[in-house]
Amino acid sequence: MSDNESPALPATDFIRSIIRDDLASGKHQRLVTRFPPEPNGHLHIGHAKSIQLNFGTAEEFKGICFMRFDDTNPLKEEEEYVEGILQDVSWLGYDWGERLTYASDYFEQLYEFAEELITKGKAYVESQSAEEIRQTRGTLTEPGKNSPFRDRSVEENLTLFRQMRTGEFDDGTHVLRAKIDMASPNINMRDPVLYRIRKVPHQRTANQWCIYPLYDFTHGLSDAMEGVTHSLCTLEFEDHRPLYDWILAEVSAPCIPRQIEFSRLNLRYTVLSKRKLIQLVEEGHVGGWDDPRMLTLSGLRRRGYPASAVRLFCERIGISKSENNIDMSVLEDCAREVLDKTAPRVMGVLKPLKVVITNYPEDQTEEFQPARHPKNPEMGNRKVPFSREIYIDHDDFREDPPPNFFRLAPGKEVRLRYAYVIRCDEVIYDETGRVTELRCTYDPATRSGAKAEGRKVKGIIHWVSAKDSIQVEVRLYDRLFAKPIPGSDDPEGNFLNDINQDSIEVLSDCQVEPGIMTAENQEVFQFERVGYYYPDPVDSLADAMVFNRTVTLRDTWARLEQEQT
Ligand code: ATP
Ligand code: MG
Repeated sequence: MSDNESPALPATDFIRSIIRDDLASGKHQRLVTRFPPEPNGHLHIGHAKSIQLNFGTAEEFKGICFMRFDDTNPLKEEEEYVEGILQDVSWLGYDWGERLTYASDYFEQLYEFAEELITKGKAYVESQSAEEIRQTRGTLTEPGKNSPFRDRSVEENLTLFRQMRTGEFDDGTHVLRAKIDMASPNINMRDPVLYRIRKVPHQRTANQWCIYPLYDFTHGLSDAMEGVTHSLCTLEFEDHRPLYDWILAEVSAPCIPRQIEFSRLNLRYTVLSKRKLIQLVEEGHVGGWDDPRMLTLSGLRRRGYPASAVRLFCERIGISKSENNIDMSVLEDCAREVLDKTAPRVMGVLKPLKVVITNYPEDQTEEFQPARHPKNPEMGNRKVPFSREIYIDHDDFREDPPPNFFRLAPGKEVRLRYAYVIRCDEVIYDETGRVTELRCTYDPATRSGAKAEGRKVKGIIHWVSAKDSIQVEVRLYDRLFAKPIPGSDDPEGNFLNDINQDSIEVLSDCQVEPGIMTAENQEVFQFERVGYYYPDPVDSLADAMVFNRTVTLRDTWARLEQEQT
């Protein structure tokens, strides 16, 4: 690709620069990448970074990206995860087209590559136990010891390996090892295990195999078989690269993919490791993989995060090799940014306090028709009924207001958004002294939008008409962990001790304007002044809706004042 054919987006990180150079120099005609999850759990936001890098660069540079399952460990893998992962990748907006593959599709070729290594004297059947192999591997400062089986003849190795394949040995009795260098400073190069016996059925190949290749043997070769040009992975694989390169050089691989490592995404106040996520789910600390407090893609989706907010986040954090620990607010800001532009507005009262407008006729209802979105007139208008009895939020009333409290208080005035100015004349209490109702009067001359809107009052609050509003349950979420790096203060790193015990608050009597029921699609709403809320797709019923708070609004007062002037 020459410079004037360059993609619309300039290279913005070191990986894109490498790709761009490789295409410009003609080293590759077309970019080929892959996203290679192991189907042993559902995807989290860290995976989104990798998906966006692999599928995103393929899109930008007009290449292709394989959606490949690295399914070499039948003990931990499940079909349910395969389906969930595919759903998550499509939700993010990426399309693998014809290129859905499985490492298990390559088991036969991989086996042949293994025989090729044996034939060249580059691999041998090891008959020591796993424990003995571990003990003779050496340490970072000491070399390992050669296995007594290292010098088996090619014929003997071939015979034994074939017998391993046909099931003549029990699990753990033999493995196939590469013959590299037991004194290598890189422990991955000390005769790593390539194949082991596992007499368990595989979710895709059933009982066809009882030996399975290890990830390190499989990964680079699968890349090569797919013609991957740039194999993009996280930094923990850097030390494995010499092994991948060794394997690719020793067998007749169709091509040599170039592996490039980048740093993993870490987010503060959460954990992003499938092992830990599985533990949270299995031990019941959360409701499931899609619990809205989980930073899994299914959890974010259920919470109301638009896929475009997740993509914006990945774009914003960028790609580099440096360690990072991103603040949750970066993710939340992306949700706000996207939702502010798209979410229809409604009024919703989370903690209802009844207000009777004593001078408003009992049998009268009028209807206000504010825009569904202040900046998108094409989204149309909604119908907001107003009547004698309304609900406002308890927090918008103070009996004893501080000096700069501009909302409702005894004898004070406030504007009801889209409606009138009311004044609080009387406060009604129950036996315990709790405020249960306010008696107010409205001023008809202050109708919103009317020519003479009347005098200006500082505060504007939201409300709903009591007889028209819909009662819903609202779930407010906070961070799942109370510490920025869960487990960091514990000598054993136990992250479970840092779970935030107040990460969910359920409000069962919230009142929302009736227009919410006419929503055609599942969409995220902005409850004006309050935040963004999404109908829970699992627990909502037609007549009993449950809303998840996606994210709070920030600086609502500043915004309202601005809109008013
Ligand atoms: P985990 O460590 O969470 O269990 P994993 O790396 O074992 O994840 P895989 O299924 O092997 O999960 O991951 C598929 C791809 O996603 C890999 O290429 C991996 O590098 C990448 N990936 C996983 N976690 C992150 C992360 N936090 N940030 C960026 N990329 C990630
Ligand atoms: Mg992994």
